[in-house]
Amino acid sequence: MNASFEALARPEIRSLTPYASARALADSAGILLNANENPFPSPGDPGLGLNRYPDPQPTALLDRLADLYRVARERLLVTRGSDEGIDLLVRTFCAPGEAVLTVPPCFGMYALSARVQGARVIEAPLVEHADRFEAPDDLVERARDCKLAFLCSPNNPTGNVLTEATVREVGRALDGRGLVVVDEAYVEFQHGDSFTTLLDELPNLVVLRTLSKAHALAGCRLGTVIADPAVIGLLKRIIAPYPLPTPTVEAALAALTPEALATQARRIAEIDQQKQRLVEALRSLDSIRAMWPGEANFVLVRVADAARLIDDAAAAGIRLRNQSAQPGLDHCVRITVGAPDENRALIAFLETWTP
Ligand SMILES: *Cc1c(COP(=O)(O)O)cnc(C)c1O
Repeated sequence: MNASFEALARPEIRSLTPYASARALADSAGILLNANENPFPSPGDPGLGLNRYPDPQPTALLDRLADLYRVARERLLVTRGSDEGIDLLVRTFCAPGEAVLTVPPCFGMYALSARVQGARVIEAPLVEHADRFEAPDDLVERARDCKLAFLCSPNNPTGNVLTEATVREVGRALDGRGLVVVDEAYVEFQHGDSFTTLLDELPNLVVLRTLSKAHALAGCRLGTVIADPAVIGLLKRIIAPYPLPTPTVEAALAALTPEALATQARRIAEIDQQKQRLVEALRSLDSIRAMWPGEANFVLVRVADAARLIDDAAAAGIRLRNQSAQPGLDHCVRITVGAPDENRALIAFLETWTP
């Protein structure tokens, strides 16, 4: 199987010897005269030793993430947010003209990275039902000619989850020809398992995780690509030499202690409770024409005039996200579940809002 992942990569990547950074070559112990660093820490350094380049893939962090995601360390690549993981996948595997599958309405970075790379974007739009969105019947058929199929579960902005059968079918259809990528940015909010459980069965499965949402570290920029070690090796050939700033690594390590994770689990439960309240309140409002609660920390609603709602909410100091530009989401607005007082303020505003 390894040889075939190599064959799937762009020819330019196959022949590449990765840039070997000084800190990746040598241990950072002893007298460090190999990276042109300043020996004197900056007066602005909060004690982190920022005069030194960071470890490109810190072992302690990889170990914690391997525990958290319950996968072997060899399957992990830590990146500057999932956004970098998405971009690395496209740049490693898609030559200009090759195709990437997206399942819109979805996160915009898949198509953006594809277009920058000159790849074609093939769309298999989700099917709208009254209370949820579902994968289309022709998903596998449309995925067949793609180098990468980007699935997202729970999906942003519709909140729907995909079934194991769907991921398995797309993975099998792409066996030997491409990779199926499942973006699980919101999986911690979902009442179900991560698709990492399918990694042994589907060697061409890639799962994207991030600390940005449920782990409350959006400002930290830390994502993880989980894939076959051969895929990880290919991505490493083109990743930036030092993708992870030292403060990012320190913050992530502090957030991944057992105590911090226990606190985080309670907060996720709190957000879930808040969401149930918000959904109930929204259901009782005439101005909400449709609602898709989904399985993430946001809800998608349809109103008579989305632009008006966005503007009126902004005037009341509340920022919501207009999704109307997405295919099939006319007059739809995405509402993130906030803290209790924020949700109360939103509900109070909506109770008086008329389009
Ligand atoms: C927020 C989001 C991400 C971004 O992840 P970062 O790790 O912050 O780059 C990725 N995918 C989806 C679907 C998201 O909504």
